[in-house]
Amino acid sequence: MTEIYWFRSDLRVENNPGLNAHCSAKSLLCVFFWPRQVPWCNLTGMGGQRERFLLESLHALNTQLAERGQQLHVFREAPAAGLSALVDRHKVKAVGVARTPGFYERRDVEEVAARLQVPLVVHEGNTLFSAETVHAANSALPKQFTPFRRSMALIEPALPVGEPRLPPPPSGVTSAPVPQAKVRPDPSFVARGGAKAGNNRLRAWMHREQALASYGETRNQLDGLFYSSFLSPWLANGSLSVRRLHWELRQFEMQHGRNASTEHFYSELLWREFFHWRALTDDVALYRARGISAKRKLCTFDPRSFARWCAGATNYPLVNALMHQLVATGWMSNRGRQIAASCLVNEMNMDWRFGAAFFEQHLLDHDVASNYGNWQYIAGVGTDPRGGRHFNIAKQAGQFDPDGDFVRRWQGDCPEQPEHIVDAADWPIG
Ligand code: FAD
Repeated sequence: MTEIYWFRSDLRVENNPGLNAHCSAKSLLCVFFWPRQVPWCNLTGMGGQRERFLLESLHALNTQLAERGQQLHVFREAPAAGLSALVDRHKVKAVGVARTPGFYERRDVEEVAARLQVPLVVHEGNTLFSAETVHAANSALPKQFTPFRRSMALIEPALPVGEPRLPPPPSGVTSAPVPQAKVRPDPSFVARGGAKAGNNRLRAWMHREQALASYGETRNQLDGLFYSSFLSPWLANGSLSVRRLHWELRQFEMQHGRNASTEHFYSELLWREFFHWRALTDDVALYRARGISAKRKLCTFDPRSFARWCAGATNYPLVNALMHQLVATGWMSNRGRQIAASCLVNEMNMDWRFGAAFFEQHLLDHDVASNYGNWQYIAGVGTDPRGGRHFNIAKQAGQFDPDGDFVRRWQGDCPEQPEHIVDAADWPIG
């Protein structure tokens, strides 16, 4: 009996409950479908660094599988067509996949389920808690983080799972080899895709440098090697299990003691969790200009201003530096993201979704729930009880880049741009 496991945002062999559930099959076909390039806000395709990270993650997963006698097949067609052809050709009895929170990703799953003649089993996603646990703790999912955090306060996340033996692949499956990445990582942010690199970073940050112990004081920095964990790229594509990360956090606390920093770190993992469950609940509202709020915010859309923001050629040197860093490395610190997003929304008065789409294109750690959820939060159409965040850019620069080192490193200074009148008011409707 052959089964298929469809990898999506769970690109790992260890601690993968979805994959484990298909290990009693006689043979197992492991597949990945290249993410659909939906043109959104006139932006198409992945930025070079994001694509590199994904390709490296796929090569690394294939290596992990090969060490266990398995192989990863990567296909470019739509999952519904691809999977139904594979099911027919290899007499497959069931297909498994892990849950992802994005609306379009879930629509893909629905299309696959409608087309297949065999069961499509949707497993738990890459979260700390199971759906049952979250629903048991919240009769209705809170719209704001604080009640969510309180509701989960006494519940320990699920433990990581063990790793069973993988069944062999069926014979006669062919797929094109996964290409090598066209770009190299920027020397200032050398994050390589794959579980091994993610686990190495975890060990270095948490255990070797013990940077977790001072995370609360350093997490808002713009630059440095250990101010925050940098684990989001591996968490986002599932090369690193968030349950494993949580388990490591508890080990650290047992060895070195719990403090405000370890508690703060856990609270950030809960933010990730919160946005995941909100995205599932909010469905297509995640992409609406008014977000999940009832407010209709009037804003403008001026293509020249947007192009300047993307290119890092605004009148704000700090924002320019941040945008240059993003495009060159695929990375921006959390404080940097808040400042750049606030600039687009509050200084340029633009539709937040264009900024979110640009982040989606470039961030190594792009995660639909965290990206769109955080953008809505800053724009004041999401889960922020204060109705949005407006960062004073000059004040932020004084606080986080007092000597201008960051702006110099990322060439944020550029000639003053002329003001021009924006006449496309009332954008967008919906
Ligand atoms: P740490 O500070 O070490 O935190 C540990 C982990 O907690 C992170 O890896 C991440 O998984 C989670 N986390 C931390 N802060 C947040 C947060 N505010 N929301 C949700 N989860 C959080 N995060 C993404 O993973 N993907 C995105 O696409 C993304 N887009 C963002 C867009 C905007 C406009 C903003 C303001 C934030 C966004 N974030 C996103 C959240 C946050 O900036 C990153 O998770 C964080 O910077 C990653 O760095 P780190 O791994 O060093 O985080």
